[in-house]
Amino acid sequence: MPLGEFELIERFFANRGATRGDVRLAVGDDAAIIAPPAGTELVLALDTIVSGVHFPPDTSGRFVGHRALAVNLSDLAAMGATPAWALLGLTLPAADENWLGDFAAGLDGLAKRFGVALVGGDTTRGPLAVSLTLAGWVPTGQALRRAGARAGDEVWISGTVGDAGGGLAILQGRLDADGAAREQLLQRFLLPEPRTSLGQALRGVATACIDVSDGLAADLGRLCAAGGVGAVLETGRLPLSAALVAAAGADAALRLGLAAGDDYELLFTAPPAARRLIEALDSVPRLSRLGAISATPGVQWQGATVERDLAHGFDHFRN
Ligand code: ADP
Ligand code: MG
Repeated sequence: MPLGEFELIERFFANRGATRGDVRLAVGDDAAIIAPPAGTELVLALDTIVSGVHFPPDTSGRFVGHRALAVNLSDLAAMGATPAWALLGLTLPAADENWLGDFAAGLDGLAKRFGVALVGGDTTRGPLAVSLTLAGWVPTGQALRRAGARAGDEVWISGTVGDAGGGLAILQGRLDADGAAREQLLQRFLLPEPRTSLGQALRGVATACIDVSDGLAADLGRLCAAGGVGAVLETGRLPLSAALVAAAGADAALRLGLAAGDDYELLFTAPPAARRLIEALDSVPRLSRLGAISATPGVQWQGATVERDLAHGFDHFRN
């Protein structure tokens, strides 16, 4: 017997994620009621992921559920916000209970880990797509923004770049890898880990911040454009994982690191005086200093011959 809409919501989406004292009313009424902490501003983000566009159509529900929340957590991390409440818009071709169970588990696991309560949503029939609205808070006036970088500021990035692009290439059969390297790259694409605690630690430290979803080169361009500044960076400082270099080779790893998306690392700027403080941050992903902000607009990469490669895109590392 096909699962009705009411049972579906009740079974898979009621009481999901963290239990929060500030949620007065959640799934089951016409709308949710929350009581945001005093002295805060709300920070809101919405991201939609579509089957065949943002993930391969045969992706397990677990990875889709994780990803739908992770991409939004990353946006809030880039604002320095503390995530708290989510609304889920789910469009499904059919009520496949196995897929839904995996999806709910992927979403629930990440939501609990990051203190997010699922407070409501909407369920409709159609081609598979997941739209998630995430709300969180910052102490009034303390959100990080894309704009704010000043000439002389240093440019930093968390973790390693290009790994998720390598993972996607493996899934699509464009890149070969085996053993631990394969697992590591696939995991970076399938189970992105938002840099939430780093974002919060950067409040009052970073002058500008953006999360790297479309690729380092593109997102750095956005950060610079928002601040009306430029940047000079060294390709030799790009943090590339040993797994990516082993799987793709040094040249392709560099191109993926610059141009591939989906890494969800934080790219931020801070004055040189903050260097000590940043290096001492107890951040799980290590932080790398890539270069500095310049007053002249435009991003300049120094080092390997990347400009020509970037102009040709990154998707030609097979040879
Ligand atoms: P209405 O038609 O009155 O909007 P719905 O049937 O869409 O009611 O939703 C009923 C309740 O279930 C609401 O509280 C709504 O927020 C919640 N809900 C619906 N779909 C989802 C979902 N995918 N995830 C979480 N909550 C959902
Ligand atoms: Mg209603």
